[in-house]
Amino acid sequence: MPMSDSYKTRLSAILPEIVNTFGTPFHIYDEKGIKDTCRQLKSAFKDINGFKEFFAVKALPNPCIMKIMQEMGFGFDCSSIPEIKLSRQIGSYQEEIMFTSNNTSSSQFKTALEDGGCILNLDDISLIPKLPKIPELISFRYNPGPRRKGNKIIGNPVESKYGLSHDQIIDSFDQSLKLGVKRFGIHTMLASNELNYEYMVETTRMLLDIVNLVCGKLNITFEFINIGGGIGIPYTPDEKAFDLESMAGEITILFEQFNKLNGWVPKLYMESGRFITGPHGALVTSIINYKDIYRKYVGVDASMSALMRPGMYDAYHHIHIHGKDNSSHLEKVDVAGALCENIDKFAIQRDLPVTSEGDILVIHDTGAHGHAMGFNYNGQLRPKELLLKEDSTVELIRRAETFDDYCSTLTFEPRILSI
Ligand SMILES: *Cc1c(COP(=O)(O)O)cnc(C)c1O
Repeated sequence: MPMSDSYKTRLSAILPEIVNTFGTPFHIYDEKGIKDTCRQLKSAFKDINGFKEFFAVKALPNPCIMKIMQEMGFGFDCSSIPEIKLSRQIGSYQEEIMFTSNNTSSSQFKTALEDGGCILNLDDISLIPKLPKIPELISFRYNPGPRRKGNKIIGNPVESKYGLSHDQIIDSFDQSLKLGVKRFGIHTMLASNELNYEYMVETTRMLLDIVNLVCGKLNITFEFINIGGGIGIPYTPDEKAFDLESMAGEITILFEQFNKLNGWVPKLYMESGRFITGPHGALVTSIINYKDIYRKYVGVDASMSALMRPGMYDAYHHIHIHGKDNSSHLEKVDVAGALCENIDKFAIQRDLPVTSEGDILVIHDTGAHGHAMGFNYNGQLRPKELLLKEDSTVELIRRAETFDDYCSTLTFEPRILSI
């Protein structure tokens, strides 16, 4: 079920006051829910020595949220220099940061290796000689190609731009070893929003097989395997929650078997984003207009610049109207924003309770890849972010964008090239 009953109940109790104080639209995140999920993850993998989650910063790059992850002992998975800087700004350094970039420039590697560095997770064999210096620890991203089938969002591994091909694996570790790398890891990320836990178990098995393959050819061991993110959450009311316990149970057995066979075992790293914060965020927006043409439209004060998933992936986000339950008198509507793009709709032909202007819509599961994917096209300004804290206070954790922000890149020293 999208959005937990607990969050819905706690939010509903104070929503009108929050709206009165801060104004719509806003994303609001649930500290309690996020912490509960972090603890659930840690507890599921407690029997694996050295289990560590690196929160995928791109899912929700807000320092207040990242602080929660940090307190939980999580590291950060970053794919860009700004994400690394954000992690460092809240005091995470070195091996608390995993740099999983692709198509990376030498200057980006240089910055990543400054300030204590980070774990480099290289996307390609051709990047090894381009590194400004050889770090002690290197990980590679593996793309199994035709050996695995991908999922809907990430696609088929053969068509995916990420990672090393199977045939490059041995050579990549061999080259690194010869250049003086001492510690090794291996990573893959094949799924996104995957609800079938067996897929993740299969990924773990695959990486442990690769570790065996490499260790059979080269005289190295692996410090970790990183099975990526991609654990799914139920967005529609009839999808079932991801079975984390079964996934963790079966992976724990794989690790025990590996240990029995080899007398050592790598650590298990993971870089979930959506699973950790996705269900614990909501986009709250007010109804400002109605129109009745070939279809009925409910116009709200947020647009897809605040939540791109429906327009970009045709993704379903459950919606409830504050104070009205979904069993009251329903009508079929499209819920639309203000962008001059017809994909700017939060719901299409959805049965929602009959509403009136000023009613508050709560769009579920916006805690990951929601605000973060926002953009400014069409002069749309991104909304604020709030945090519902465990003590029931509500804190502004990012202000809304302003016209000045929109124009901020228009202030600069004039430069003209005359030829
Ligand atoms: C996006 C991404 C993640 C997080 O994915 P979720 O689906 O949010 O768990 C993790 N690792 C990498 C490399 C990514 O690109």
